[in-house]
Amino acid sequence: MAQITHYIAGRRVAGGSGRNAPVFNPATGEQSGRVPLASAAEVGAAVRAAQAAFPAWAATPPLQRARILNRFLRILEGRAGELAAVITAEHGKVLSDALGEVQRGLEVVEFATAAPQLLKGEISENVGRDIDSHAIRQPLGVVAGITPFNFPAMVPMWMFPVALACGNCFILKPSERDPSASLLIAEWLSEAGLPAGVFNVVHGDKEAVDALLTDPLVKAISFVGSTPIARYIYETAAQNGKRCQALGGAKNHMVILPDADLDQACDALMGAAYGSAGERCMAVSVAVPVGKETADALIEKLAPRVRALKVGPGTDPEAEMGPLVTAAHRDKVAAYIDSGLADGAKLVVDGRGLELQGYEGGYFLGGTLFDDVTPDMAIYREEIFGPVLSVVRSPDFEEAVRLVNEHEYGNGTAIFTRDGDAAREFTYRIQAGMVGVNVPIPVPMAFHSFGGWKASLFGDHHMHGPEGVRFYTRLKTVTTRWPKGIRAGAEFTMPTMK
Ligand code: NAD
Repeated sequence: MAQITHYIAGRRVAGGSGRNAPVFNPATGEQSGRVPLASAAEVGAAVRAAQAAFPAWAATPPLQRARILNRFLRILEGRAGELAAVITAEHGKVLSDALGEVQRGLEVVEFATAAPQLLKGEISENVGRDIDSHAIRQPLGVVAGITPFNFPAMVPMWMFPVALACGNCFILKPSERDPSASLLIAEWLSEAGLPAGVFNVVHGDKEAVDALLTDPLVKAISFVGSTPIARYIYETAAQNGKRCQALGGAKNHMVILPDADLDQACDALMGAAYGSAGERCMAVSVAVPVGKETADALIEKLAPRVRALKVGPGTDPEAEMGPLVTAAHRDKVAAYIDSGLADGAKLVVDGRGLELQGYEGGYFLGGTLFDDVTPDMAIYREEIFGPVLSVVRSPDFEEAVRLVNEHEYGNGTAIFTRDGDAAREFTYRIQAGMVGVNVPIPVPMAFHSFGGWKASLFGDHHMHGPEGVRFYTRLKTVTTRWPKGIRAGAEFTMPTMK
């Protein structure tokens, strides 16, 4: 069984707290490793290593920082399959999906290799007579990222490439459920020439997170995870004077208007609802067909496809959907299916009780489809984070918009239609951070920024892209006058241009 380590100051470090958590292979249910849970003192050691590396890293010209990221990018490209295999082994998602995750993370590294361009400042000549002004963005210092289980490589890569490009040192606290991807990343960064201490990994639970939240040397916290924890992280970071971006849970709606291409909408729904077993913050978990005819036709097309979903271990190239991450999570999702039934929703396809020959210990659940779901039901209000799609029928466009806007979460949403007018109205009025028009999972590319609204994000900055650069730097504005031998005398009034 693998004993997982931390990664501090450029090397693997064994856990010293005496506390560990088991890591499982979700396809078999077998324990594959043990991850150490860091004590506050171990987190402190990582923070000090990062702080020691900071002055030299911040002083390294952005072009040289970019060259190291470029070398890391080439290693990532060459060894993407290895990283994907590690993700599949601990998370459970199918290999092709894990490779897609690596690719989306790698694109943020590509973005960050433009560091010299991204860090260009602004200058204004002659803001007053013979006075110039320029604004620059400088790194914050030691920053930390706390990440969820569902994207063990991509979500850390939403954060650290931009943080490092901007001259910060980084502490990653990955999910304790699939911790191994972060160690490969740390080693490949060292191989690419990153100085020791610039990127560190500490594993752990609340104790490690609290140590990061309260350490005065940590200047900013990036978090992605569930909403209750995101809210806690944001509030605690703010109380401790830290900058914070905390991305939370989601309940993403896809509205289907009567004029939509229903086959295209169905294809989109299958991938968006059941891909990665629904364990994506941008998964579509609510379909909102507008009008009875649209709803009936949608269910008729969807139901057989959900029944035919190929569920299997992530290593099976035929599998479309793997297991859920843990037995406890599988049971929680199954309990939501029970609650939907008890609340009166119509269970069209039931994924409970699925057993795969040879994988009886795996955490599998089949694709599940509910019709006639109403907004008062728990399966509609709460994030399930599993392969469960709820259909909420809407009589008209207005009602569909109201439904999306009144939901607690506002991560992503999509509309399927051929009507440009309706699509424009939807994108303008909808209360969500990311919107797709005939695109079911509108995840912004690396050079744009990712983030939701309402209970899906606490803080001001979205991740990566221009918002990422703003988050990981602080602004300094310099006003300059060179002496010309002319003395204006002491001025006691507010300087103005009058
Ligand atoms: P989680 O909130 O349980 O854990 C996230 C991180 O917080 C982990 O590193 C975990 O160790 C830590 N943590 C857990 N409990 C804590 C506590 N009490 N105090 C301090 N830290 C704690 O989330 P998860 O189950 O790993 O991930 C799934 C969730 O993440 C879903 O809600 C999903 O929507 C969300 N998510 C959101 C986005 C987004 O962009 N908005 C992206 C991916 C995942």
